[in-house]
Amino acid sequence: MSFSKLGLCDPIIKAVTNLGYTEPTAVQKQAIPAILLGKNVLAASQTGTGKTASFVLPLLEKLNQDRKLRGKRIRALIVTPTRELAVQVEASVAQYSKYLKLSSMAMYGGVDSEQQKQRLIEGVEILVATPGRLLDMAHQRALYFDELEVLVLDEADRMLDMGFIDDIKNIIERLPVKRQNLLFSATLNDEVRKLADGFSGDGFDSKS
Ligand code: AMP
Repeated sequence: MSFSKLGLCDPIIKAVTNLGYTEPTAVQKQAIPAILLGKNVLAASQTGTGKTASFVLPLLEKLNQDRKLRGKRIRALIVTPTRELAVQVEASVAQYSKYLKLSSMAMYGGVDSEQQKQRLIEGVEILVATPGRLLDMAHQRALYFDELEVLVLDEADRMLDMGFIDDIKNIIERLPVKRQNLLFSATLNDEVRKLADGFSGDGFDSKS
């Protein structure tokens, strides 16, 4: 099976081909069509399986299909447990969206927030962020989620292990109720399932 059969547009296929990807991985084959259909997806996937592309590629496809002229507000929020992962995921977003006009940014704590605020003002459509700085910026009213379409929780089990559950709940309360939820986790333990069950909307449609 090729990437084009999964329903991704030429600029995205060109970007992954440049990276040497010839075939989608197992998690990509399962997750990409479900995400393109707008389903909530709960996926068990380890790092190294191609999980980042399994949510980033369909996310880019969806955002690109419905181009917003303004391109200013956050349309996709990817929450990661660590700064390193935020940087890494955003780097993947940048690579995969090389031939598209979508803006992205990694936002994390431990650095001055003024530069991050400036970037947000200039316009960010795909925000990859760690929970603490995200909440901090939300408290400062530096973030607007009124145009948010998709929430991704990456390495959800690790975020729970690190004690981020209250921060995550607090973030979710600030998001539009009508949105797509994508939850990726190395393990699907009870805590992760409880988090997924707690999402508003109609629950999760696809588990892999
Ligand atoms: P991840 O599981 O997201 O950490 O990805 C692990 C590695 O696999 C990364 O270096 C990706 O660039 C690479 N990768 C992701 N999807 C594919 C694919 N379909 N074919 C070849 N490599 C891939």
